[in-house]
Amino acid sequence: MNISDKLTAEVMWKATVTCDARYDGEFFYAVKTTGIFCRPSCKSRTPQLNNVRFFKYAQEALREGFRPCKRCRPDIYVRHYDPSQEIVEDVQTILENRYDEKIQLKNLAQDVGLSPFYLNRLFKEKTGFTPRQYLEKVRIQKAVLLLKTTDLSSTEIGFQVGYENLSSFYKAFKNVTGCSPGEYRKM
Ligand SMILES: [Zn+2]
Repeated sequence: MNISDKLTAEVMWKATVTCDARYDGEFFYAVKTTGIFCRPSCKSRTPQLNNVRFFKYAQEALREGFRPCKRCRPDIYVRHYDPSQEIVEDVQTILENRYDEKIQLKNLAQDVGLSPFYLNRLFKEKTGFTPRQYLEKVRIQKAVLLLKTTDLSSTEIGFQVGYENLSSFYKAFKNVTGCSPGEYRKM
C-alpha cells in the first residue's frame, strides 16, 4: 500500500483515532503528556489532538525523548507487529499455569486489559478455541497425565485439575478424549 505520499496531519490523526493498522510502519504518533509514542493501530486510549506529535520514523520519536509504548512496541522493527498475538499468548500462559484455579473470563480479561467480549472473540480467532474451551483442554491433558502416571482416583484427579464437581469433570473428559477417565486408564 503506497500511502506515504498523502500522509497529511488530518489523515494521520484519523488513522490514530481509528487504530488503523494499515498505517503501521507509515508513521508513529507521540503523546506529549505521557511521553510515549505508538503505532497507529495501538489500542491505547485515544489522546487529544493538541497533545499529539507525528513522526515518520520511530528513531525520530526516540531522539526527541519519547518512550516506546509497551503495548504496541513501536520500537520493534516489524511492519505489522500484531500486539493481539502477544495478548493471546499471555492468556494461554495464564491458563496453563493456573488451570487448577477457579478462573473467570471477567478476571482474565481484566488481567490483559480487554473486555470479556473482545477477549473471547480475539482468543477464538487466534487459537480456534474460546478461553473456556482452551482451559478445558489444558485441564483434561493434565488429568490424562495423572491417570497414566499416578494411582489417584478419577475423583481426586478431577478436583486436582480444577473441577468443582465430578459431573462437569466427566463431561469435559468425554468431550476431549471421547471416553470416561476409567476407560482411559485401562487403555
Ligand atoms: Zn501503543
